[in-house]
Amino acid sequence: MNSLDAQKVLCVLYADPSTGMPSHYARDSIPTLTQYPDGQSLPTPASIDFNPGHLLGSVSGGLGLERFLIDRGHQFVVTADKDGPDSVFEKELADADVVISQPFWPGYLTAERIEKAPNLKLAITAGIGSDHVDLQAAMDRNITVCEVTWCNSVSVAEHAVMQILALVRDYIPQYDLVVKGGWNIADAVSRSYDIEGMDVGVVAAGRIGLALLKRMKPFDVTLHYTDRHRLSSDVEQELGLTFHESVESLISVCDVVSIHCPLHPETENMFNDSLISKMKRGSYIVNTARGKICDREAIVRALESGQLAGYAGDVWFPQPAPNDHPWRTMPNHAMTPHTSGTSLSAQARYAAGVREILECWLEGRPVRDEYLIVQGGALAGTGAHSYSEGDSTGGSEEAAKFTSSGL
Ligand code: NAD
Repeated sequence: MNSLDAQKVLCVLYADPSTGMPSHYARDSIPTLTQYPDGQSLPTPASIDFNPGHLLGSVSGGLGLERFLIDRGHQFVVTADKDGPDSVFEKELADADVVISQPFWPGYLTAERIEKAPNLKLAITAGIGSDHVDLQAAMDRNITVCEVTWCNSVSVAEHAVMQILALVRDYIPQYDLVVKGGWNIADAVSRSYDIEGMDVGVVAAGRIGLALLKRMKPFDVTLHYTDRHRLSSDVEQELGLTFHESVESLISVCDVVSIHCPLHPETENMFNDSLISKMKRGSYIVNTARGKICDREAIVRALESGQLAGYAGDVWFPQPAPNDHPWRTMPNHAMTPHTSGTSLSAQARYAAGVREILECWLEGRPVRDEYLIVQGGALAGTGAHSYSEGDSTGGSEEAAKFTSSGL
């Protein structure tokens, strides 16, 4: 094993809570999982220096990596200041060897930024979804890109179930009514339906899409999916799934469509005016995959016209969403900021996964195949299965428009 000399590890994380790091937590522990649903093992770092269930994804949490890196003589720089040419991220990138970033608060690694980072050899996604990296530029520069496969797939599936129910039952206005002191039941139910009996479909049945299908089955709905890889007939039969060769076929029969493919050139702007016009009037879309898979203005138009009865999700483009992003104020939405994959439970898994990747990298051992997106100048591992070549970071500079009010 050849351990690497001192490395500069640059880590982009979201800001600490507005009231400072928590002094105590709502729960004392998180459940201990033994394996993921397909048998893949949870992260296997040699050890960890954090408390599972504590806030690790913000700057002071530092993914629990500081002691590990500093004790081994490496440099560890953590910042939330990531957008624009004067950001700490852009300045520190000039001599960074490794970049770690989270999709929730992505440090966009565009071709221009990669060009300015001659030492960069490894980009780790602390989570799942590496579209914030120009994957084409990473391939061209022989930079390895990896993510912590499975770490928050179930977290996202749970969030998608919540948002499907929130939309179909029209939960958010009912909650608002209570908080405002009202009791007009007719107002509260005028857009509220049961999901039972509806047709529910997923665009992509990978780790998250399949987890969602399994969770929706007990609601007695008819389940559909499309994916470029077909599931086994056993799984199709067990869940009663109808496979569709194309997304057009799927959306034409579904009442609810949940999106679970990665963002890459094949899926960018997939849900545009043309596709949405082929959906049933009054359909619902839930998108916890990536904001750019949906055309921003087309979603607003469809909600305003009633073609869509509701839209929810937790992914935006860019992130943070500019303060005047129209999805903040469009009708009949149930959006959250990008939180589904960064519950305290998920943070423990992706912090451990990043530690595992760093241990491997720094000790000259291979990173697990399932964590790889790009390696050796080509898509690899999960990247080869789930992505296509090219870049989807265009327009990310708009993230610099966001001004924080501390919220
Ligand atoms: P996965 O690799 O297990 O599944 C992705 C699936 O998408 C694969 O089955 C693949 O075949 C399919 N796919 C790719 N391109 C397609 C296309 N053009 N048409 C149809 N299917 C296509 O990944 P996963 O763990 O299920 O995660 C999926 C995505 O969800 C991530 O890439 C990320 O963008 C997003 N995600 C979001 C959050 C969040 O916090 N909101 C967290 C994790 C992941």
